[in-house]
Amino acid sequence: MEKKARHIHIYGLVQGVGFRPFIYRHANQFGLAGWVRNHMAGVDIHVEGTEDNCLGFMNTLRDHAPAASAIVSVKSSDVKTQNLQHFEILKSENGHYNITDVSPDIAVCQDCLQDMQQQDRRSAYPFTNCTHCGPRFSIIREIPYDRCNSSMNRFSMCQDCRHEYNDVLDRRFHAQPISCKFCGPEYTWFENDKRTNGWNNIFPELISAIEQGKIICLKSTGGFQLVCDASNDESINRLRHIKQRKTRPFAVMFCDIKSIRPYAYITDKEEKILNSWRRPIVLLKEKNAINPTINQGFDTLGVVLPYTPLHFMMLQKLKTPAIVFTSANLNSQPLISDNRNAVEFYQKGGCDALLYHNREIVNSADDSVVNIHKNGINIIRRSRGYVPEPIYLSRKVEGILALGADLKNTFCIGKDQRVIISQYMGDLEKFDVFERYLQNIDKLSNLFHFKPAHIIHDLHPDYYSTKLVKKLANQNGYEDCKKLAVQHHHAHIASVMAEHGLDEKIIGVSMDGAGYGDDGKIWGSEFMVCDLNDYQRILHLAYMPLQGGDTAVREPWRLALAMGYEAFRNDFFNLNLDFHNYISKEQQMMIIKAIGADINLAWSSGMGRLFDAVAALLNLVHTSGFEGEGPMKLESTYRPSKNVYPVIIKGNEIQYSSIITDVITDLLNDVSVEEISGRFHNTVAKMISEAIMKISDKNGIKKVALSGGVFQNRILIEKVWNGLSDNGYEVYTNQKVPCNDGGISLGQMAIAAKKMELCV
Ligand code: ZN
Ligand code: ZN
Ligand code: FE
Repeated sequence: MEKKARHIHIYGLVQGVGFRPFIYRHANQFGLAGWVRNHMAGVDIHVEGTEDNCLGFMNTLRDHAPAASAIVSVKSSDVKTQNLQHFEILKSENGHYNITDVSPDIAVCQDCLQDMQQQDRRSAYPFTNCTHCGPRFSIIREIPYDRCNSSMNRFSMCQDCRHEYNDVLDRRFHAQPISCKFCGPEYTWFENDKRTNGWNNIFPELISAIEQGKIICLKSTGGFQLVCDASNDESINRLRHIKQRKTRPFAVMFCDIKSIRPYAYITDKEEKILNSWRRPIVLLKEKNAINPTINQGFDTLGVVLPYTPLHFMMLQKLKTPAIVFTSANLNSQPLISDNRNAVEFYQKGGCDALLYHNREIVNSADDSVVNIHKNGINIIRRSRGYVPEPIYLSRKVEGILALGADLKNTFCIGKDQRVIISQYMGDLEKFDVFERYLQNIDKLSNLFHFKPAHIIHDLHPDYYSTKLVKKLANQNGYEDCKKLAVQHHHAHIASVMAEHGLDEKIIGVSMDGAGYGDDGKIWGSEFMVCDLNDYQRILHLAYMPLQGGDTAVREPWRLALAMGYEAFRNDFFNLNLDFHNYISKEQQMMIIKAIGADINLAWSSGMGRLFDAVAALLNLVHTSGFEGEGPMKLESTYRPSKNVYPVIIKGNEIQYSSIITDVITDLLNDVSVEEISGRFHNTVAKMISEAIMKISDKNGIKKVALSGGVFQNRILIEKVWNGLSDNGYEVYTNQKVPCNDGGISLGQMAIAAKKMELCV
């Protein structure tokens, strides 16, 4: 039969995830000869054989590709046959395998878990991994991704491991972190100033310590974690004290899906993402409280399944159904990722015992957090399991460094058409977080051989990231960089456009906490008509008074008071509201006077503030323990309602005052908090939809991008989405990056790339 040959170029995240061995096996299955070789940002494949087999190979490629691979495009062309006899994995011309893309860390796979039961060399070995699973980003120093460029370089393979590593048919062919009991990393247990070695000695200590209610600091994939028994109130309260975390819920780790079910509802989509190789924390709707100490005041439970061999062994052995699971750091400080800091943390009383190992974490990454809504996913924190997987744009981004926003920061670098977004950094106003931010800009740049030519930053003059631009100007490698400031909410909307390849005029909606506006005021509920190059601010929520500036953000009662006073003037103090039982008249009068005298008064149109004010009026929160507490509690008290408050739009401002009046009137009429939350959610959804329709009526635009942290609220995003799509709108939301400020850097990148293209 006549032979055919094809050249195939696959573009995407296909390196370091077992893709070449897969191609090797796949070609052999179809009896094809040829070769596969890594190429910049992808692989090249040559196959030859019968036409049917070549076609079969092509058509089933995507179905069988390794789970952690992401094929972006496949291009193929007919070429001359070369009469090859075998299929081979080739080195590149430079003699390397040229792995230039870096995969995120991958949760341990089922086959490896089985090996830990059956293979002597790996029985109960907590560093078991294979070509399809294990650490990647967290251990790599440099590309190409090779063992010698990773923190596995200090461990030399034993003969058996080397054999597996070199055998193309072995599950561990070219698994860079390959190891076994005889040659790999090891754990050490540290308690009462005594060190214990040897897994057989350590494991029983670990289990009994957790069962005794101790708090353990353990080294995991992307950093150290604090764990304790989820059924032990005292341990959890101690953990709250250590972390200085009064009200923010903790996540819990269960053994498997079955063991979650008594405590939380799980949809099919949620089950899929919980079990996925990325293994993020998923916010589930709670069924029965596993322990109120974990998430008092919230109707969701953050759940994660084990993703390292250590986690699996622990959860299988422990009698308790779940462990509390949180990153090891003090309140909002950077995640601890090296042994020295962990020992210091232990010695300062941060935990009762420490479990560390001798493989360095090169790139730290917190656990990722997501929630699932009817129309898609909300990535709330994009870190371990997602980073550094690139977002692919339709234009070049080479040389662009986008610094992101100051809260929930991520930054990103541009390589060719790929945007590589950093792990979650946290809040840059914290000195140590800012230090780590600087280090990670260097690390990520070095890792991907990135040379900056453009620095993009937020418009806010007081952001630490903005001030950094000046400092960088004198620094090696940054001297000649061009600079560009991007408006915060334009960036939010552009992040959605970038994800979905939108490059036209659309209606962009950013429902957010705070962002610096063109007029120097704080924006945050923006309806724009925009493309990637420019925007027009069409409508926004009327400005709300923040007495005390940022203090009013931390103390939402000030907002509730100011807005209640605006609506009812002096009568507000005589209204029969529970609110007055929590905040003294003196405190209230002081704020009102300060507002009257224009002392320390800022103005914000942030939708987050309206949620804060209503949450405070309902006494769900007066002083926030963490950013977003008020809005999250308001979402947690939601109950479906048929009622809605009227929405008034005057000129280019949407009025909030009538909503506040209606909420207070409902409270005076003894309407329940749950019902008011229902009415309020209906109202905000209606406000957003009506504003969009009003804009669309004028310009005929039917494509809408929704972003901003307020859309983490599942009820709101579903209501707005349904309302709009029922009326013939195309709705786009963030699916790959956070709609909160963690997505700002991508938006900055997309805007900069567009402007650069226009300048050429
Ligand atoms: Zn594996
Ligand atoms: Zn070995
Ligand atoms: Fe924002």
